[in-house]
Amino acid sequence: MSLDELEALLLVQEHDTARDRLRHRRATLPERAALETQTANLRGLDAQAREIRGRRDVVLADEKRLDDEARSLGARADDGDTKLYSGTVSSPRELQAMQADVEMLRRQRSDLEDQELEVMEARELLDAQIEALEADNAVARAETERLQGVIAAAEAEIDEELAKEDTARAQQAASVPESLLADYERRRAQNKGAGAARLVGTSCTACHLSIPSTEAERIRRDAGAVVAYCDNCGAILVP
Ligand SMILES: [Zn+2]
Repeated sequence: MSLDELEALLLVQEHDTARDRLRHRRATLPERAALETQTANLRGLDAQAREIRGRRDVVLADEKRLDDEARSLGARADDGDTKLYSGTVSSPRELQAMQADVEMLRRQRSDLEDQELEVMEARELLDAQIEALEADNAVARAETERLQGVIAAAEAEIDEELAKEDTARAQQAASVPESLLADYERRRAQNKGAGAARLVGTSCTACHLSIPSTEAERIRRDAGAVVAYCDNCGAILVP
């Protein structure tokens, strides 16, 4: 091996480190966590709205039923009235009974109308809750879209940088012998991304630990003729 080839390998390592950093940044964009929170928020709002709509529909059906019943009682009372004043019935007892019927019908209708009013108030309260939830939903949806836009833009930017690094890395790797590159890749996979490192004094710049000074001297004397490794992290050491 030559020192030039080892220097080229160090540059490959620089590009790989840069690519690792870019991929990490892409995967951990802070907006991703915010988007997840917002998505969960939307799911919660939807579930709440569904539940309240269900309750509102039940109350609305009740309101309609009470309204129908009140109308029908009213119609029956009106019929009774018409008959009462039509002059077709002349018996005072019968007239009195009919009048009592009409009054009872009107009372019943009035009770139903009171009930209907209560039910209507409950329904209006639920309508207001649904409206508020819809407003919250619109805000959450807008925020979700904004975050998706920010993420897409950040991804595009990172992908562009990654593509540049990929090209630069490939060009650099062309001047490194295949066996050395394979050795580097293996070590890089086992050593959290650091397959090659500069030897500075007696210390390895990958793990920042020291190797014996006689070992460091030997590596410098060999000047790349023999491939050396860090005793501590296993990275290829470049003098
Ligand atoms: Zn090391």
